[in-house]
Amino acid sequence: MALNQEQRNILAELLYGNITDTPQDAERMFPVRDLPEGAKNTRIAPSPTGFVHFGNLFPALTSERLAHQSGGVFMLRIEDTDSLREVEGAVETIISSFGYYGLKFDEGATLDGDFGDYGPYRQSKRAFIYHIFAKDMIKRGYAYPCFCSKEELEAIRAEQEQKKLIPGYYGEYARFRDASIEEIKEHLDRGEKWVLRLRSPGKQGGRIRVKDVIKGWVELDENFDDKVLLKSDGIPTYHFAHAVDDHLMRTTHVVRGEEWLPSLPFHIQLFEVLGFELPYYVHISQLMKLDGSSKRKLSKRHDPEAALSYYEAKGYPARSVREYVMTLLNSNYEEWRAQNPTLPLEDFPFTTEKMSPSGALFDLKKLDDVSKNTIAVMTAGEVCDEVIAWAEKYDPQLCALLKADRAFSEAIFAIGRDPVKPRKDLASWDGVRDYAGFFFDELYAITEELGENVASGDEDIILKSFLESYDPADDQTAWFEKITAIAVANGYAAKPKEYKKAPDAFKGHVGDVSSVIRLALSGKKNSPDMYAVMQVLGEARVRERITAAIGRLR
Ligand code: GLU
Repeated sequence: MALNQEQRNILAELLYGNITDTPQDAERMFPVRDLPEGAKNTRIAPSPTGFVHFGNLFPALTSERLAHQSGGVFMLRIEDTDSLREVEGAVETIISSFGYYGLKFDEGATLDGDFGDYGPYRQSKRAFIYHIFAKDMIKRGYAYPCFCSKEELEAIRAEQEQKKLIPGYYGEYARFRDASIEEIKEHLDRGEKWVLRLRSPGKQGGRIRVKDVIKGWVELDENFDDKVLLKSDGIPTYHFAHAVDDHLMRTTHVVRGEEWLPSLPFHIQLFEVLGFELPYYVHISQLMKLDGSSKRKLSKRHDPEAALSYYEAKGYPARSVREYVMTLLNSNYEEWRAQNPTLPLEDFPFTTEKMSPSGALFDLKKLDDVSKNTIAVMTAGEVCDEVIAWAEKYDPQLCALLKADRAFSEAIFAIGRDPVKPRKDLASWDGVRDYAGFFFDELYAITEELGENVASGDEDIILKSFLESYDPADDQTAWFEKITAIAVANGYAAKPKEYKKAPDAFKGHVGDVSSVIRLALSGKKNSPDMYAVMQVLGEARVRERITAAIGRLR
């Protein structure tokens, strides 16, 4: 038999005698926000487990855009309700990781404590708030204490499994659902541990329909499980905290991964019994990865790129990663970006209507392409700053070299930065050493070999002739004419086309001749534009390297 009102009041006092505030007091403490019409309030709510998944950026960027595009508030709430999984320093990692990607929170946990009027923003500090609602739910017959031990719960589960029943704490298995006040008192007097459970009003076999912003109408089984609201330490489960926090923080849009969809019936029931207005739910599809020909989830265990830290370590600029995430989030983003290559991402009209209800395919090659485009429109100064900041942590030698002569370093990154057709060589800063290391004498080394396209012995003739004709004051046309002249004088075609037409008439073509000079100057067969490279290296270095390469290229 269920408890009557008087017994429920007694029980509420027995369990939460120290709580004097009511839900109305809580409502007054955290009033409805005074914001413009249509403002969306969002939050991200990561758990401090020490690992930030790349996938977390998707709800984060979606939430940030929805809030800031509408004049709403974007919050960072730390879900530290599971002390067993908590890792030291993890909160700092979360805050700095999201900061790295330019996600600016209006409220929430910061490195210097909490900021905002709707806090605390760490759930471990909000126990008194959850207890206000817990006490009220007991009084209204929607919650009760359960003293089952771990062993008892395991036995229940085993029996349900054996009978092929749905696992859970319900019906005849909900041992304390209708326990008398005397029985409860006895357990309390013995000092037994208890958890607080929902007294679910749901029925087995019931169905609910709910509208998700991305997925549209979904039909799900109604919750009939008396699930745990507060654990024995008085700290809530995610579910209870979600309902209470998102209501009191006045979240209008709950943006989260679709792995939470199965919990939605429980959440909806909680909002109902708590008398809270339901927020909009925005469930984002899981990131998928192509594994051979089949798709699977991007996995923390198997894929290094699942960790957000991977991108920072490789030196993908934060804005490249943001760009990439946006291309996966909104199907029309890429088109917009192609038309507006230099506008800030914030100018794009982000909308949930362009979000796909099925899983986005994660692809590192695509990220590289997006990043190359992004880096191509940065200024040389911006690139220089970012590379130095990255190298500080990940390549100290390169960092020192870049810092030693700022003008020289910036000139390197200015190469190919054509405003109309910029070159797209770099995708991440860990490629800088290979791309531009040779500019520095400390990193310069001839690491590749000359191909068969240049007849043996010709390389030294080419280098010597080049040295004789080299004038650093030449413009690009004059410079190239000289190289062409060297080619022709030694039996190489002036144009690749000429050579292709009559390969027997030539030893090779002008490109083969310049590859000799390229190898001597950069140590490699591929390098940025040679003329520009020489301008940056300067006359002394050019002469020195060419001279030293004579007799050394084979
Ligand atoms: N702590 C949950 C997670 O990390 C948050 C889910 C939510 O955004 O509500 O998945």
